Amino acid sequence: MEARRRSLHSSKTFQHEPTAKPSPDAVSLPLYVTNAVFFTLFFTVVYYLLSRWREKIRTSTPLHLVTLSEMLAIVAFFASFIYLLGFFGVGFFHSFILKEDDDSNDVLLKHDSRKLTPCAQALDCTVFTSPSPPLVANEDDEDIIKSVVDGTTPSYALESKLGDCKRAASIRREALQRITGKSLTGLPLEGFDYGSILGQCCELPVGYVQIPVGIAGPLLLDGKEFSVPMATTEGCLVASTNRGCKAIHLSGGASSVLLKDGMTRAPVVRFGSAKRAAELKFFLENPANFKNLSALFNKSSRFGRLQSIKCAIAGKNLYLRFTCSTGDAMGMNMVSKGVQNVLEFLQNKFPDMDVIGISGNFCSDKKPAAVNWIEGRGKSVVCEATIKGDIVQKVLKTSVEALVELNMLKNLTGSAMAGALGGFNAHASNIVTAVYIATGQDPAQNVESSHCITMMESINGGQDLHVSVTMPSIEVGTVGGGTQLASQSACLNLLGVKGASKETPGANARLLATIVAGSVLAGELSLMSALAAGQLVKSHMKYNRSSKDVTKVSS
Ligand code: ADP
Repeated sequence: MEARRRSLHSSKTFQHEPTAKPSPDAVSLPLYVTNAVFFTLFFTVVYYLLSRWREKIRTSTPLHLVTLSEMLAIVAFFASFIYLLGFFGVGFFHSFILKEDDDSNDVLLKHDSRKLTPCAQALDCTVFTSPSPPLVANEDDEDIIKSVVDGTTPSYALESKLGDCKRAASIRREALQRITGKSLTGLPLEGFDYGSILGQCCELPVGYVQIPVGIAGPLLLDGKEFSVPMATTEGCLVASTNRGCKAIHLSGGASSVLLKDGMTRAPVVRFGSAKRAAELKFFLENPANFKNLSALFNKSSRFGRLQSIKCAIAGKNLYLRFTCSTGDAMGMNMVSKGVQNVLEFLQNKFPDMDVIGISGNFCSDKKPAAVNWIEGRGKSVVCEATIKGDIVQKVLKTSVEALVELNMLKNLTGSAMAGALGGFNAHASNIVTAVYIATGQDPAQNVESSHCITMMESINGGQDLHVSVTMPSIEVGTVGGGTQLASQSACLNLLGVKGASKETPGANARLLATIVAGSVLAGELSLMSALAAGQLVKSHMKYNRSSKDVTKVSS
């Protein structure tokens, strides 16, 4: 209740101070108190002056003879009257003025859905370009906002009810601010196509988060140059990857090999006995049955092609790990549809089979798991480069010997000591996640996509460095999910892998996987060199530490 009451006052404030103070947080309490004070003052002095007037008439005292307290009361009367008129009266007069403007065919206002807003903000063009304009609702919107606040309109139903995704987001956002009493200023609303995320990328939107995109490169990989987009807020990361790219480029480039390409899904089914579970396992792993099973699986998509079914038993429970190629899609939806087809067939053949879940975690999606590290998931890639000794010295500011030793003690022995699972690297997840966010991948899949072993060896009699990254589970796509959104699509375009490959389905996604591995190689080289040269703390102080006074920023 308190939050709603406060929000009513704050929405009033939006009407009078549209660009200066859009934050309910910042203004709600003082306004509430100020209004109460002026109301009390106004009615008190009116009562006092009226009673004094009646007294003067009764005692036949001339009205122009005023005492000090009467003078003070008159001043207080005018002060409170002017305040209340300014606060509540201006919007009222504006509503008349705006209606007249509308009649006179003001083009700007005619196309503005907020034209009836009793507020000067409707005329303020800055609200259209401001990154986070305070919402000023027209009368229709105001009614809907109120109905969302009081719960009569479910927030999730706004898109279907209004048929306008932007308006739905804007109303939901204002309702949220009123319900919580918290400001969303800083979270932009404008400049985003809310229709593009409907039903596939994000529900109940109220805005979008901005993440800067930096470019590392050119990364010279398999004879081609790539400018790699990285979305991150970690200072140093892009600069460091860029330095790694430079060292690779000056040494003649990196090369990659795609070892495997298959997305997995593993449902769990249960039987009355372990014997029956084993019977299904043998049935599924029998090569004679594969043709029929793959025909069933492949029915669901032009691109999903079953490669294998690997089974694991836990007592009466069986985990069926299906692997399939998925064209240019990352493939989770595709593989799930194929699995569903096969399960329906198996249900007829094994009527005592109880399907517990389409995903039984033997897949394994978005969790660290040895099965992905050993078997691979998505694209398995190895990427290597030979870095010349003088480049190690001049660009990376360290020596081949120091790098090889550090790699052995940190990435291999250190990670073994820590009981690492796929974490035999310096910071693969940093690069993977930044590229994933920029290119519209599922950032939660950074868990297994960052599995990586970094190897470093001195070659050519200790002169040069051979460095490689082996990454068995890079899960990327160039169609579906977030890849079709405008900004992410632009980043894919920059890499030349936007959308479906016309010549060879799957070629774009496979190329993207090798670019991810190549970028990780650059990132590994640079961070390892910084560590070997003892530069890490120095460079982080320079790039990753804000020079701003944090206490001032937070206040
Ligand atoms: P995911 O399986 O990664 O969740 P989606 O199912 O959302 O991906 O997107 C894949 C969709 O894109 C499918 O409907 C598929 O038919 C279509 N598609 C078009 N061209 C391709 C291609 N070259 N590779 C894969 N899918 C493609």
